[in-house]
Amino acid sequence: MASERTGNTLENKRKHVCVIGAGLTGLTTAYRLSKQGYKVTVLECNLEPGGMASAFSIGREKLEHIYHHIFTSDTYVTSLADELGLSDKMQWFEPKDSLYMAGKLYPFSSPVDLIRFKPIPFVERIRTGLAVLKAKKVDDISRLEEMTAKEWLVSNSGQKAYDSLWDPLLRSKFDNDASRVSAVWIWNKFKLRGNSRGSSVSKEMLGYMDGSFKVLIDALVEAIRKNGGELFLGYTVFGLTKLNGHFRIACMLEDCSSVELEADAVAATISTPRFNAMTGELGLPKEYLSKTSSIQYKGDLCMVMRLRHRLSDYYWTTVCDDLPFVVVVEHTNLTGLRKYGGHIVYLSRYLDITDPLWTQSDSDIFKLFCKGLANMYPDFRPGDVRDWRLTRTRYAQPVIGKKYSVKMPAMNTPQPGVFLAGMAQIYPEDRGMNYAIRLGDQAAEAVSMHLEGSDSNKANCK
Ligand SMILES: Cc1cc2nc3c(=O)[nH]c(=O)nc-3n(C[C@H](O)[C@H](O)[C@H](O)COP(=O)(O)OP(=O)(O)OC[C@H]3O[C@@H](n4cnc5c(N)ncnc54)[C@H](O)[C@@H]3O)c2cc1C
Repeated sequence: MASERTGNTLENKRKHVCVIGAGLTGLTTAYRLSKQGYKVTVLECNLEPGGMASAFSIGREKLEHIYHHIFTSDTYVTSLADELGLSDKMQWFEPKDSLYMAGKLYPFSSPVDLIRFKPIPFVERIRTGLAVLKAKKVDDISRLEEMTAKEWLVSNSGQKAYDSLWDPLLRSKFDNDASRVSAVWIWNKFKLRGNSRGSSVSKEMLGYMDGSFKVLIDALVEAIRKNGGELFLGYTVFGLTKLNGHFRIACMLEDCSSVELEADAVAATISTPRFNAMTGELGLPKEYLSKTSSIQYKGDLCMVMRLRHRLSDYYWTTVCDDLPFVVVVEHTNLTGLRKYGGHIVYLSRYLDITDPLWTQSDSDIFKLFCKGLANMYPDFRPGDVRDWRLTRTRYAQPVIGKKYSVKMPAMNTPQPGVFLAGMAQIYPEDRGMNYAIRLGDQAAEAVSMHLEGSDSNKANCK
């Protein structure tokens, strides 16, 4: 009879959840649910887990395909690392940042650097500093939701400061959509960057893991497996249907064969266009689809180079001049050389996929980027590049326009048992590993509530 007493709970917990996507959101969702006793299967189209934060081997180290660091305010990352026994792997560094403007590198790490930043008039430098402080005090964002970042910045820091400083910064993320971006987005950046300075306003600290963030991803995968969950790599989900109270998840494998899995609930931790492409047969209502279809995403080209020499002393350089990339990230200026076998530099460009650059070949992009580097750093020679690789991320950054809270699709879709948890649902904060982990926690809670709830419904019907 003991099994009868415990059977109901155990049965609940062995309900099967399919998680689509093995980025940090999907892995966190799967980890939490597997820890609660659910049977969890993660399906990932790539051959490695980690999504945008995935890594490759270089020298005797691992390194992200795309630059990554965290802020001290990213407590979901640090808490998860602690929980997985990785606290000793998190290291903190003081970055040196700069702006490249009119052919010149300006230090840009602290309020003192802002005061000394001659390209904008003195009064506007002061107003810019005050605008940042003002933004940090805002608690109710409803008024900011009605404004663009441009409107807010021009009125608070001045036109010249906007043209010289903020417009290039917004363009570096949103390209030709810069003027549409909501004031909430920039407010959140000011607030978070401020929090990462802690009590010492002039000092920002950035976190990176010994062994790269792959250490965190591997620990999540290991914990999911230890809890009885599974991860299938090279499984591209292309269809989601409901049959006899269960969901059927159709996957295409690497050899173009297909398989179908069955689950009691599905958490899709992917972009909205990919979600739309796989849910056509679920018959989701128009109101929900109009939200998932309206989100616009920027793509990103990120090239990582291993160089014989460093380019500058800076970790982060925002490029305000017209060059093919918008940011130069000298990773080894933050972390030290480690065992990479050279200086690691990332060059990144967010863009619309209608931009001709998106479809240029990797080698043409490499040539263009080398020309850009030679413009910025007169000592740079293409022969300094030992090796390089390019990562194209189609859904890299949702464009957060005005009144985004009204446009954002809910995690609980109108089809009970199907959940959508992608970076377009991170708001008012901006996407990032920290909020991917928070979203994973929220998705696991929503799935679990649904599965527990459906059981109590059944119990009520008896
Ligand atoms: C240029 C750039 C720089 C960044 N820098 C930082 C940084 O410094 N710090 C920071 O915290 N964050 C940074 N981020 C953001 C961070 O990487 C992301 O917010 C986070 O990794 C998102 O995780 P995710 O799981 O939500 O999405 P993803 O990582 O995109 O994971 C989604 C997964 O779903 C898979 N998938 C998609 N469709 C299917 C399908 N049909 N079937 C199966 N699998 C599918 C994808 O392959 C992917 O692995 C950066 C991002 C970019 C683009």
